[in-house]
Amino acid sequence: MTADEFDVIVIGAGVTGLYSLYRLRELGLSVQVYEHGSGVGGTWYWNRYPGARFDSESYTYAFSFSKELLEEWNWSEQYAAQPETERYLNYVTDRFDLRRHIRFNSRVTSAAFDQADDRWTVQVANGPTARARFVITAVGGLSARYVPAFEGIDSFEGEWCHTGKWPKGGIDLGGKRVAVVGTGATAVQVTPEIAKRAAQLLIFQRTPNYCVPLRNRPIEPETMASIKARYDQIFKMCDATGNSFMHLPDPRSAMDVSPSERHAQFERLWAEPGFKKFLSNFSDVMKPGPANQEYAEFVRGKIRERVGDPILAEKLVPTDHPFGSKRVPCESGYYEVFEQDNVSLVDVREDPILHITPRGLKTAKREYPVDVLVFATGYDYVTGALDQMDIHGLGGLTLKQKYSEGVRSYLGIQSVGFPNFFTINAVSTGNFVRGLEPQVDWLGECICYVRSRGYRRISPTLEAEEGWTQHVLEAGANSILTKTSSWFVGANIPGKPRFLLITPDTAPVMREKRAAIAANGYEGFELQ
Ligand code: NAP
Repeated sequence: MTADEFDVIVIGAGVTGLYSLYRLRELGLSVQVYEHGSGVGGTWYWNRYPGARFDSESYTYAFSFSKELLEEWNWSEQYAAQPETERYLNYVTDRFDLRRHIRFNSRVTSAAFDQADDRWTVQVANGPTARARFVITAVGGLSARYVPAFEGIDSFEGEWCHTGKWPKGGIDLGGKRVAVVGTGATAVQVTPEIAKRAAQLLIFQRTPNYCVPLRNRPIEPETMASIKARYDQIFKMCDATGNSFMHLPDPRSAMDVSPSERHAQFERLWAEPGFKKFLSNFSDVMKPGPANQEYAEFVRGKIRERVGDPILAEKLVPTDHPFGSKRVPCESGYYEVFEQDNVSLVDVREDPILHITPRGLKTAKREYPVDVLVFATGYDYVTGALDQMDIHGLGGLTLKQKYSEGVRSYLGIQSVGFPNFFTINAVSTGNFVRGLEPQVDWLGECICYVRSRGYRRISPTLEAEEGWTQHVLEAGANSILTKTSSWFVGANIPGKPRFLLITPDTAPVMREKRAAIAANGYEGFELQ
């Protein structure tokens, strides 16, 4: 059987895959998307756990490429829940007739570069082989689920799942004894919902987080009308900020104002929804140093105020990492769940989980019998989803080998040895969709440039890759994200090399860098 031939194969039909398909097709390219799930949405397809929702403002996270789409779609909440976002992405798919280019239930198992023909051969599990000159991996950064290798998990007689693969039909939690392992951004969303239904909820915490109130609210029709009228302005504001949110930072240093003024601003912004509390705050709140330390203490105070039992409060207060060095979770009633009689905290630093038994979890001190076990234990960021495919570049080099000591790439988008192979799952920081649209636009133009000049290969030079990798290491060393162990640096996965997995540059700097590279004939890339 001869393989299907396309100009571009896109792996994944989440927000990046959908926009890549739309943009590349507009540019006249033939595109095939392979998607593991049975529907579109990626993150917003798989994360069906109760409580899953945006913590970026819905209308800033949505696509901006179509004025008609912006006019047609109404968001019902400031921070939309997963079902609404999944509906939105399905609407986009059908509105732009994208579905016929997507093959669902199609997990890509391998991709290999054919040096003689300068094309990639992509293999789908139990499915067809396809070929294309270019491959774009739109597989998501936080999509390879991580479940700690606890012994005995297979013997567990109850129901268990990772939050990222919550069953479509849901889990009947009514009257059940439930354990949640983890206290990250996912856990703080799911636990208040489980606490409403379960007979008993045990929350297994290793590291407490600086959680901040989300303060979600409905978007009334008149508010939505005003948002629609201001879309241009809203996106312009997002473009102006480092992480593409619409929260402009206060350029002042917190330490340049009096303690009372500082505190008044902390309080004023605390009352605001979402990330505004810290992103619109003094410019040094999110940088290592005294302003950050003071803000951390302020947030600790807020946690203590909300937890009645002072001993429990101290267990919930983070002290071992700076504010913002881990992704800040936004919560809705998280701290209050601990006031419920059916909820208990298990501090696994004091009482580590040893293994799973047929009945539940065995810690150093006792066994906790449970009916449902929920792992909110995170993801193998960036490389996890790529490692799940066998990707062979020049000379049989695999991407896994290439990344074995950290992601060596140029701009996070291409690596030496993997011509015509583009990764878009890491570079965007902050508001993901705002970051990916310009990246995909750039990539579309790049592919057209290569084709229109009759080139068959584009690949970074070794020098450009070395330079970028060094930049990530050097500039990354100043980032607050490298000051603790989290998925940002791969430290949540046992054995994974510690390496900053996002760009240390702001979104505007990345856009400028990419534009300059394109203007200089794709400087740093080798065209053959
Ligand atoms: P996460 O932030 O990596 O949190 C994983 C949790 O599991 C942590 O509390 C971790 O503890 C714990 N854990 C891992 N292994 C463990 C073990 N062996 N024993 C006990 N505890 C263990 O993962 P996540 O909460 O799924 O969030 C990942 C990212 O997804 C977020 O940071 C965010 O970017 C994104 N997200 C976004 C939204 C949204 O936009 N609304 C919602 C949810 C998630 P330690 O901290 O000690 O490692």
